[in-house]
Amino acid sequence: MPEDPRQGRDRPISFFRSRSDRSQAKPILVLEEVYKYFRRDIPTLRNVNLTVERGEFIFVTGPSGSGKSTLLQLIYRQHTVDGGRIVFSGRDVSRLTESSIPYLRRNLGVVFQDFKVVPHWTIFENVAVALEILGTPPKVVRARVAETLERVGLAGRGNERVGHLSGGETQRVAIGRAIVTEPALLLADEPTGNLDPALAIDILTLFEEINASGTTVIFATHDHSLLSSSPHRLIVIDEGRLIEASHGLRAWSARTQMSA
Ligand code: ADP
Ligand code: MG
Repeated sequence: MPEDPRQGRDRPISFFRSRSDRSQAKPILVLEEVYKYFRRDIPTLRNVNLTVERGEFIFVTGPSGSGKSTLLQLIYRQHTVDGGRIVFSGRDVSRLTESSIPYLRRNLGVVFQDFKVVPHWTIFENVAVALEILGTPPKVVRARVAETLERVGLAGRGNERVGHLSGGETQRVAIGRAIVTEPALLLADEPTGNLDPALAIDILTLFEEINASGTTVIFATHDHSLLSSSPHRLIVIDEGRLIEASHGLRAWSARTQMSA
């Protein structure tokens, strides 16, 4: 088991921390026999089993409507499971009380396709808000935001209004907001879906850099061009089931073409 590269650094304030010494070696996320029904008859996700080790970078793919967003939404508890369980950092996510959900979200960063930033706020304000809602002192906020803007390639641009930025820059702001709390797990739901191909690769590279610094990343995308030359673990959602594409995307594509 590799050592947690964040060990010794100022790790995020966490209610999981008291257990962290024992839980470091355990998977960061485990899904066990997870089911989700939006319709009574057909489950959107069926018997999903997935173990994510600390430090992994995982792509989740599958056609539009296959359940990628649903899978992520279950992890950050936008929705609850209808069967099975999801264990994040040793805690059963579906058994968290309402008052514990903010603590879950503090340990999870989420990035969306449509950015979900506030256009009339500055870059600084959009990133700082994630710390401010946790009651972080202003001085610490300023230092952490400055450091984060550097990480996402927006150093010194804190005073610019987000509404004037390009798509790629706007997504960097959203990524900054997601990582400024130093979450252990970063979820990305089609984060390159609104970007042209060259920018999409830049944004993927940024996620890879964040992963290299120790953050576990789950990246949902249906963009095959991002997956084709990727060294990362690949999970495919196919008719509600999760398939570990251990033989790579090509094997999976060949299989789906044969069955089409
Ligand atoms: P993907 O992200 O892979 O495109 P989604 O997870 O958004 O897929 O959707 C998977 C399926 O679940 C789709 O059939 C979609 O219509 C359905 N679905 C997703 N969210 C809801 C919801 N809140 N209410 C009802 N059906 C939903
Ligand atoms: Mg989706």
